[in-house]
Amino acid sequence: MTDAAERKMQFLFALRSKGVTDKSVLTAMERIDRGAFVRGLFAGRAYEDMPLPIACGQTISQPSVVGLMTQALKVSLRDKVLEVGTGSGYQAAVLSELARRVYTVDRHKRLVAEARRVFEALDLSNITAFTADGSFGLPDQAPFDRIVVTAAAEDPPGPLLAQLKIGGIMVVPVGQSDAVQRLIRVTRHETGFEYEELRPVRFVPLIEGLARDG
Ligand code: SAH
Repeated sequence: MTDAAERKMQFLFALRSKGVTDKSVLTAMERIDRGAFVRGLFAGRAYEDMPLPIACGQTISQPSVVGLMTQALKVSLRDKVLEVGTGSGYQAAVLSELARRVYTVDRHKRLVAEARRVFEALDLSNITAFTADGSFGLPDQAPFDRIVVTAAAEDPPGPLLAQLKIGGIMVVPVGQSDAVQRLIRVTRHETGFEYEELRPVRFVPLIEGLARDG
């Protein structure tokens, strides 16, 4: 077996052993090369199941957490998805394999620019990335079938709840930024919102406003 094939097998094995069992999610994660989203010093560790530093003091999430969040979102090929927190673009790329259209926003212009370049290089043409404060959602494209927030909020942001379709699902880490947070799944029913607590997670905080340093 080549090194690359062996690495991929170990990557998928780690995902399964952490509970990522959904076939379509595993296939999407097999197709999207995480190595394309990690640059510099940590590039060699892209296939390990750990979060890694990216530009602007942010992090690319741990692959098993990306897998579990994607699985919890129950995405279908008809869905229009919003991701808040583009970061490296990896989570958006995985979603793009499973959804009709993915909108992703980050408050750092530089991260959005870099992620766009990777989407283009990988020919992922159903992703649109914007620099924006995602705590207000993306009113122009709302409502969404699915929303995933990849930064921790103290509560699920009201504008995001409002931009979820009836029957829609949002997955969001909730809690103080310096503590362990809980991953919450919100389902919007005709009559209101249902909240389920999924697992403890650790994300960088959701910060209001655009970043000043790009
Ligand atoms: N999903 C990313 C990891 C995200 S890290 C990946 O797959 O690599 C969290 C990201 O959320 C950071 O890039 C940070 O800049 C962004 N973020 C924090 N607050 C935000 C806000 N209010 N609006 C948009 N993006 C935000």
